[in-house]
Amino acid sequence: MYELIQVSEQSYYIQSPAKIGLVKLNEQDVCLIDSGNDKDAGKKVKRILDANGWRLTAIYNTHSHADHIGGNKYLQGQTGCKIYAPGIECAFTRYPILEPSLLYGGYPCKELRHKFLMAQESDSQELTPACLPEGFEIIPLPGHFFDMVGFRTADDVVYLADCLSSKETLDKYKIGFIYDVAAYLDTLEKL
Ligand SMILES: [Zn+2]
Repeated sequence: MYELIQVSEQSYYIQSPAKIGLVKLNEQDVCLIDSGNDKDAGKKVKRILDANGWRLTAIYNTHSHADHIGGNKYLQGQTGCKIYAPGIECAFTRYPILEPSLLYGGYPCKELRHKFLMAQESDSQELTPACLPEGFEIIPLPGHFFDMVGFRTADDVVYLADCLSSKETLDKYKIGFIYDVAAYLDTLEKL
């Protein structure tokens, strides 16, 4: 777990429960696509950054589920990086109690306020094309959650967030999480 896997000249991912994208922007600077489950994931990512002498400029969140934004707070605290999240996902990232509140439909009981459903809050800003690194493209992928997006990098690697699950994951959990089934089917069609 947490090995750095290179997939093209500039694009990598960090092998972890919710994979983290890492893209080299130049010799020194990198950005992340999502930040992993929690503070521990953030610490492991920070170790990879330090070992390579990389500076983290920004985290681009695909959506606001806790396993994708969980490392935000730690990494922003350590590096001062910017954080961007699309549309309503930005509100959830800033106010993570919205996630268990949405799932429960009211004030979430203690069992729903654990790190798998409620990340630590982070200072994220609205994702717009202007915030993207040179050559990046935003790919709208609604369905799994409100305003989920993917990213295409300048060297043509596509990060698809939670659009697809492995057979192992589906076998383990039996059901997937889908917020809007019609939008999800449209997104799969587009993929
Ligand atoms: Zn998700």
